[in-house]
Amino acid sequence: MHIELVDSLRCPHPHEDTWLVASVTRFDGRDIVQGMLGCPVCRRQYVVQEGEVDFTAGRDPRPAVRRDADEREAAPPGPIDHDELLRARAVLALGEAGGIVMLGGTHAQLAAALADEAQVAPLLLNPPDWARDGGRFPSALRVDDVLPLAGGVLRAAWLDAATATSPLLAATVRALRPGGRLVAPARCALPAGVTELARDGHEWVAESTAVSSAPVSLRRR
Ligand SMILES: [Zn+2]
Repeated sequence: MHIELVDSLRCPHPHEDTWLVASVTRFDGRDIVQGMLGCPVCRRQYVVQEGEVDFTAGRDPRPAVRRDADEREAAPPGPIDHDELLRARAVLALGEAGGIVMLGGTHAQLAAALADEAQVAPLLLNPPDWARDGGRFPSALRVDDVLPLAGGVLRAAWLDAATATSPLLAATVRALRPGGRLVAPARCALPAGVTELARDGHEWVAESTAVSSAPVSLRRR
């Protein structure tokens, strides 16, 4: 978990919105490899292991979804090619550098290319095990139904079949900044708060219709 991304995280438990306090036992550059994020309000602690913060503690995982996902994700994919990277940048509207892009499940395979070529900060959501095998520690979240993110912090998000649940789609919309892109499987209903821009047999691409309450630069997209 990159140290700068910690500012965008919030305790997922239902109480006043609060940031988390990091206690780090191992850094790799500016990435927290091992440590703990603590909530100053409810005192819960979230373990960071190999860059991934576990927000599921104390709640039941959903074994049916996970088992299904694990089988499909058992083999790591090869590196993505130039066309895949171009498509990803197009659907996520990543023409310029900067911002946090959340990649759900198997879309973790885009993380290294987007970080290097598009100069954005990838944030992995429930990534498969192979996402940690790339020689660098990812910034990753392990969640069930609640997304531990502040409102409006995501530039874009791409969810896969396992991560595009109704609660996570709705939570992702809240975490998107105005005009931020959301891509999800075509079978998923479009959540409130986004407008559909395009769709094919596999996926739809939508844009957040949220209006920011704070003054924002008109150059931001
Ligand atoms: Zn809390």
